[in-house]
Amino acid sequence: MPGASNPSSKASLIRRKVEARERITPADALWLWRNASAEDLRSLAGIVRARFHAPRACTYMVMRIVNYTNVCVAQCDYCAFYKLPGQPGGYVLSQPEVFAKLDELLTLGGDLAAFNGGFNPHLPLDYYCDLFRAIRDRYGDSLEFYALTIAEFLYLADHARLSYAQAAQRFLDAGVRWITGGGSEILTEDFRRRHSKFKYTVAEYFAAQEALIAAGLRSTATMVIGFDETIEERIEHLERTRQFQDRTAGLASFLCWTFKPWFTPLGAQLGSIEITTEEYLRHLALSRIYLDNIPRIRTSVLTQNERALEGLLYGADDFDLPIEDEVTQKAGATISLQFDRILDVARGLGFTPTYRSVAAAGIAPAASVLQPTV
Ligand code: SF4
Repeated sequence: MPGASNPSSKASLIRRKVEARERITPADALWLWRNASAEDLRSLAGIVRARFHAPRACTYMVMRIVNYTNVCVAQCDYCAFYKLPGQPGGYVLSQPEVFAKLDELLTLGGDLAAFNGGFNPHLPLDYYCDLFRAIRDRYGDSLEFYALTIAEFLYLADHARLSYAQAAQRFLDAGVRWITGGGSEILTEDFRRRHSKFKYTVAEYFAAQEALIAAGLRSTATMVIGFDETIEERIEHLERTRQFQDRTAGLASFLCWTFKPWFTPLGAQLGSIEITTEEYLRHLALSRIYLDNIPRIRTSVLTQNERALEGLLYGADDFDLPIEDEVTQKAGATISLQFDRILDVARGLGFTPTYRSVAAAGIAPAASVLQPTV
């Protein structure tokens, strides 16, 4: 008897929902993941993408991740970057060393820096506030920076015995505008217990992000796939993100990248196998369909190289051209500075990439970043 359990009628039901701007449920997402072809996912993601972007439009940025310290006490088992306090090879960058990296970024045509380090118990809050204030004084609006990830913010607030609101105010006073959603990986409590038990709970992560947004800072959503997470855990991450955005409207974008397993304890345990680009692209499409309230979906050149550009066909509309990220490079990521070659891949797929300057966008509230075009 025909019904929702019939694959073709289930597919039609979900398509009708997406066309009618109705939300898909976690069960729909699971069904799509298990049953939909890559072509079906592309097509559905294209319907949602078209609400925000012209079909052949896409944007990109040239940016640098500044890894200001690799000393960390969190001990995530998927990390090849950190050194414990006192271990040989640990470092902290001075202000002149950070400035040299930012100067080089500007020379290469970029204008966005993203700071990402470890939970370093020897760095006081003043190290961060002095650094960010000095960057704002020196570069003004010629360069924008993502000051920290939510995970680092949690550690710093905790370490300084400040409430999230108090810590957010300290960063605002230092000229900070953005704290990104980094450190989320997979937002289920069980995943964190398995792999990063010293990295705060999901509940703490969202509480901190909500406090930052309430204080007037801007933020983003991120996700990393390809560990040992289940499909249900991926969907739970998307569901929590969508609910958070419904509540706050504070997420300017969603970026998903893939776990690089080399030289990590978890990678050794799992056999250092990466998920395929095809799986990444399917997930990108599912994310676009699911996250109908986040206008900008970004594809990861850092972890997928030029094949990330195929993500533009799977619902993404934006990407970075990174010039450095020690965290993923230590675990096997490779970076190319041949920007024209990478942009040509996007053009070859029929897209017209336009540079997107976060610095030039200034401090517009997240809700005004992009509105649906129809
Ligand atoms: S992923 Fe980040 S928080 Fe976890 S151990 Fe590495 S540097 Fe520390």
